[in-house]
Amino acid sequence: MHEKPCIYCGKVFDPFKGRGDHVLPSGLCGEFAKDIRFRGCCPGCNNAFSEFEQILAQATPLGYLRRYAPIRRRGRPIVLSQRGAKRSKAPQHTARPLGYDQLVKPRNDPRQVEPVNQITIIDEAGKQHSIELHEGMTAKTLSAKIKKLGIRNFRSIYCSVTEQSDNSCRDLLREAFPGMVFEDLPDSEPGESTVKGRIRFEYSTEADRAIAKIAFHYYLIHNQRGFDGSEPEFAAIRQYLWQGGDSTLFFNQAGPSFELPFGEDPSGVVRTPSNWCHVLLAHEVDAQVVVYMRLFAGPEHVGEEYHVTLGSIEGRIVLPSGTWGHIYHYDEERNDNYSGHIQSIKPEQLR
Ligand SMILES: [Zn+2]
Repeated sequence: MHEKPCIYCGKVFDPFKGRGDHVLPSGLCGEFAKDIRFRGCCPGCNNAFSEFEQILAQATPLGYLRRYAPIRRRGRPIVLSQRGAKRSKAPQHTARPLGYDQLVKPRNDPRQVEPVNQITIIDEAGKQHSIELHEGMTAKTLSAKIKKLGIRNFRSIYCSVTEQSDNSCRDLLREAFPGMVFEDLPDSEPGESTVKGRIRFEYSTEADRAIAKIAFHYYLIHNQRGFDGSEPEFAAIRQYLWQGGDSTLFFNQAGPSFELPFGEDPSGVVRTPSNWCHVLLAHEVDAQVVVYMRLFAGPEHVGEEYHVTLGSIEGRIVLPSGTWGHIYHYDEERNDNYSGHIQSIKPEQLR
């Protein structure tokens, strides 16, 4: 019998049943060869956490980075999109070719976008509301959408459609807005000029819990103290991960700084790694346990940086092995079920 209590809810379960949890969520392409799995969390808590991980992957800038890192599995690229999850929305991509924001749709490489059929309503207060027009949309559906956005009166409506949809969209608008006067603007060809783009992310702070969980589980699987996470030192972070709370108590507290071989140097030059990777470092210093992470660092991006303070181990003996790190590399050529491999590093090597 291997049964033991879950470190979060206390429910007794068999930690050797199933495969255990990845340190990096699979929604962020966290399948790395020889990854040590975390086995302190019962299936029920694991399911609850997967909800936050979904928000992280489907609605945040980190999930966006996951899209353009060239991640492969079984030799094939993984095609990803961000659809939003739970109470968090899909990111909204817009471009500004004509003085107002137009919706655009990201392609597989999300830096490449294409136009979508849409109307943009400028309301009385000058605020813009964009609505995508779908094929076969009825005037009734369109009116319901406008009502849902809370738009009562408007100044003008811009309509931007492809040539093929021009006639059907005009019919739709005539029916939805009887008596409206049309004015044609000059046509613009896609790919002709460069315009500014913007991505708007709107997501719940539950995504932070998924990030803090990566840090906590990473520390637990590698620490030399035999901590399994159930210790009183970690009561606060457990409570936060399981039930939520104030994330500022755990993120970006004062702590050690690491000099990575990439990032911005004092002269302002930005260096980036040549291959996409995640860097995770654990540090026990001044009785604080801190995990430092740069997630999705790559040739064009220094990575999203997080410092997560997990707890205080005051009164515990100082261990010489209290600092360690790993790079989770994405491999461009792989034919197995993993996206990459893990390299153990001594943080000193990074100075
Ligand atoms: Zn549990």
